[in-house]
Amino acid sequence: MQHQLRPADGRSDRSRVAIIGTGLAGLTTAYLLHQDQQKRYDVTLFEQAPKFSLDAASVTLKNDATGSLERVDIPPRSFCRGYYANLCRMYDHLGVPFQRIQLIWVFAKVSAASQAQIPVAEAAETMPGSYFVYGKRLHELLLISPHFWLRASLQNVLLTFYLAVCHAWFFLACFFLPPRTIQPETYLDVKHSAAKSSKGCESFRQYLDRIWLPQRYVLYYLLPILSIICSCSHAEMLDFPASDVTSFMKGTFLRKTYVAKGGINRVQATLAEGIQDVRLQTRVTKVERVDGGGGVRVRYESMQEGGEKRSSSSEQVFDRVVLAVSPNVAAAIFNPCKPLLSVVPTVPVTSTVLASPNTKVSLVHEKSHVPSGECSYRRGEAQIMAFRTTFSDSIVQTESLHYLSGGLVVRTSPTADVPEVKGTLDTSRFTRTLRTTESRSMVQKAMETKGAGSGNEWVNGKDNVWVVGSWCWDGMVLLEGCVISAMRVAKDLGVQVPW
Ligand SMILES: Cc1cc2nc3c(=O)[nH]c(=O)nc-3n(C[C@H](O)[C@H](O)[C@H](O)COP(=O)(O)OP(=O)(O)OC[C@H]3O[C@@H](n4cnc5c(N)ncnc54)[C@H](O)[C@@H]3O)c2cc1C
Repeated sequence: MQHQLRPADGRSDRSRVAIIGTGLAGLTTAYLLHQDQQKRYDVTLFEQAPKFSLDAASVTLKNDATGSLERVDIPPRSFCRGYYANLCRMYDHLGVPFQRIQLIWVFAKVSAASQAQIPVAEAAETMPGSYFVYGKRLHELLLISPHFWLRASLQNVLLTFYLAVCHAWFFLACFFLPPRTIQPETYLDVKHSAAKSSKGCESFRQYLDRIWLPQRYVLYYLLPILSIICSCSHAEMLDFPASDVTSFMKGTFLRKTYVAKGGINRVQATLAEGIQDVRLQTRVTKVERVDGGGGVRVRYESMQEGGEKRSSSSEQVFDRVVLAVSPNVAAAIFNPCKPLLSVVPTVPVTSTVLASPNTKVSLVHEKSHVPSGECSYRRGEAQIMAFRTTFSDSIVQTESLHYLSGGLVVRTSPTADVPEVKGTLDTSRFTRTLRTTESRSMVQKAMETKGAGSGNEWVNGKDNVWVVGSWCWDGMVLLEGCVISAMRVAKDLGVQVPW
């Protein structure tokens, strides 16, 4: 769908575009429109927080003994070639180097009593409840290392074989047994006509049943990893569309994991460079079509540091608006998308940066967009990522403990309430969008551009309003979705994507 390129009110020959949200999706859209070769777009960025969101939760830490600075990206925003094809092309275009990260995975069961205890790095592999360490043993086995055979107990040899077979079985299924396409009426209590009319896909739970993957492997090894990637409980992960998981497994198969070298702040600074109209601490409360005029009214209020409202509402009319926010916020501020997007589930996630006992570190308050300090990932140094799962009657969920160098640990839990433990330096809260077979249908429907402008239901771009974000594509809610959805807006507005 190619939209009219002139501004709706004819007052200037440049079109005014408001972008609400400054995560990767908002900033990528802003970059693309700002870089338009014909210079047709004036971009205004709205962000309710005091900083751009892409790097807002990252921290710089000072080692009080040595004076060295360490940058810790929160979340880590890791990626690989393959599944993240567009993100990698964009990073290459922006000149962002990749840094490889290697992880040793420790699987552990955790009880309510031991949850508050965060083992130090040296004790991580043998932490209470630990039942397997992946990264050493499995690779050693695969390399047919004599080391493995000399050290391992018979029980460990058998367990390693069992996991290798399950792993191979699961990958083979992802490649050769595609998820079934089924009519939504047969598997859902579908309340929405939009979901009824589009083709459905079986859930991950149904897929696992069909491929007969052993329960033990699913519960203790597969779900802890997948649920950490998606920041949700095991039950929520099982509700994901199976196609999300199989595409992800295929796209990441035998790929190395990377992060942006030097930190995500470099990506943020490059994407935002040159954009003048940036309104931080400004919360958008309503977006609505201006009757007759063709523009879009944006109502907003300015905020104080703690998130309190500072001023009464103001408003401004733009030619186009891009909602680069989570689906619950989009549904709350732009009424026409509510019927489609209110069924998309979201959950809170908490990340905490902790210092091990005897580690003397303090937080540095950065003043510029490009902070000091290098990121913690040292070349060739494998870091421990512990998956600690709570198996209780009410919920089964996994939290991760990522051990960085210098005695720092990043704890990420799929919940809003994480009791503060000793050594906490910083806590950040995020909203994560989940996927279900029903929400997949709704998002697909919203992303359909054909027929935009006709019919009653809102679709992306209708009323000159778009949505972008990690959830605005048919795949896992990850950075690739941010780039793909931003590229879609650029295409709709006739802007060439330079990667
Ligand atoms: C713990 C964690 C780990 C992750 N790890 C990875 C990973 O390793 N790899 C990967 O690919 N993905 C990862 N993800 C997912 C990925 O980072 C996010 O999905 C992605 O960054 C979301 O970007 P976004 O631009 O869609 O939205 P956001 O980054 O959520 O940006 C939305 C912005 O809109 C602002 N906003 C909201 N409402 C308003 C309003 N009314 N007015 C003004 N501003 C508003 C918010 O303040 C926010 O800044 C992770 C996510 C989490 C939570």
